Amino acid sequence: MLANTEQAPDMLDKILIANRGEIALRILRACRELEIEAVCVHSSADREQKHALLADESVCIGPPASTDSYLNMPAIISAAEVTDAQAIHPGYGFLSENADFADRVEKSGFTFIGPKAETIRLMGDKVSAIRAMKEAGVPTVPGSAGALDDDERKNKRLAAEIGYPVMIKAAGGGGGRGMRVVREEKDLIEAITTTQNEARAAFGNEMVYMEKYLERPRHVEFQVLADGQGNAIHLGERDCSMQRRHQKVIEEAPAPGITEEERERMGARCVQACQEIGYRGAGTFEFLYEDGNFYFIEMNTRLQVEHPVTELITGIDIVAEQLRIASGEPLSIRQSDVRIDGHAVECRINAEDPRSFAPSPGRIQNWHAPGGPGVRVDSHVYNGYTVPPYYDSMIGKLITHGPDRRAALARMRQALIEVVVEGIRTNIALHQDLVTDEAFREGGTDIHYLHKKLGVKG
Ligand code: ADP
Repeated sequence: MLANTEQAPDMLDKILIANRGEIALRILRACRELEIEAVCVHSSADREQKHALLADESVCIGPPASTDSYLNMPAIISAAEVTDAQAIHPGYGFLSENADFADRVEKSGFTFIGPKAETIRLMGDKVSAIRAMKEAGVPTVPGSAGALDDDERKNKRLAAEIGYPVMIKAAGGGGGRGMRVVREEKDLIEAITTTQNEARAAFGNEMVYMEKYLERPRHVEFQVLADGQGNAIHLGERDCSMQRRHQKVIEEAPAPGITEEERERMGARCVQACQEIGYRGAGTFEFLYEDGNFYFIEMNTRLQVEHPVTELITGIDIVAEQLRIASGEPLSIRQSDVRIDGHAVECRINAEDPRSFAPSPGRIQNWHAPGGPGVRVDSHVYNGYTVPPYYDSMIGKLITHGPDRRAALARMRQALIEVVVEGIRTNIALHQDLVTDEAFREGGTDIHYLHKKLGVKG
């Protein structure tokens, strides 16, 4: 690793936050700490957003629908132009992994707070991402070497070689969509065609590939930071196995049962991969973990919802690091500086019915945040705030930290008792159930655990 001896150039003075909700507020807070001015953009439905009220400047970029506002590239870039922002932070979701947006931002003379567009493109296509990871020596799931073609016999032979069950996955898939499990040969060809059709409609890319379907893996991911100047570090791993429909519900760090040796070995692989692909910014390598083996599934080239659990156990502000890297500073943290202190857990609080999971937008009559030692609340809501029906239903995250997993979970149990959200329905009751669940308290439940539990409960 290169020594950090270069003179740090000036920090950015002013950035535009191209997002909404809790993450926009999170980025605004980091800007304030680093004395960077923050411009917020919002849709006409989001005028009363906490970060819009707190930002140095705010610009309305369009009507409520995301396609007309938070996904409206010309409107966002014009907002940066009129406010003289130097850089654009995309947050997560929306345009954060859109390589064309990163390109347009840079071509318009702004800094994109994230990796280079070509890296986003490489990692955004799961087929090219897997190929790049194989070349970098990162273990991947046994599967097709690339995209499937229409040769039925060849595809059947491939599935038989991999061994059923297999999974057909869209190269351009995301957000848990574009995946199908096939258990028997008779269903294979139809599954490939259906996934291709769905992928064409949803992602504009019909390319699909085949992977071994792992029956009881855990989802374990590694957080990395790289400066694009040859320096990269990892901040350990997170376990995000508590999922519903491939969407994370609870995350924690470190992952239960992962040894120091495994962390160092896999972390080093991820760091090496960052160096080989010239990675810049914060990123996450996602793996499935089964029987002591790691299998790469994808890389997220952006900040993640669950980044706070890593921040709490390492004491490193990941958003501030993103801003420093985007300012052109070389990484100031060395791998040997990264220490893991205790354990952290995050519960995603959603405005949704706890049984049907249907979104539950509306006015929050009463909001009371929990507190106490080791409790962090990342949320943009307040008393009287109206959750609009147009966007993701997450209204905040409760994150607790303690000297060990037991303590972090005890603090979470208490935080979930203290938190009050009235006027809309939320999944708080589900979280209360999960943090007292015996198997979860033991640690190491797999990605199917929540489905099975919900299924049993009817
Ligand atoms: P997305 O980009 O939609 O998040 P991922 O490839 O990251 O898609 O997969 C999301 C989730 O789907 C994983 O966390 C895991 O629960 C499940 N999954 C993906 N690939 C496999 C596989 N080969 N075997 C079993 N489960 C899988």
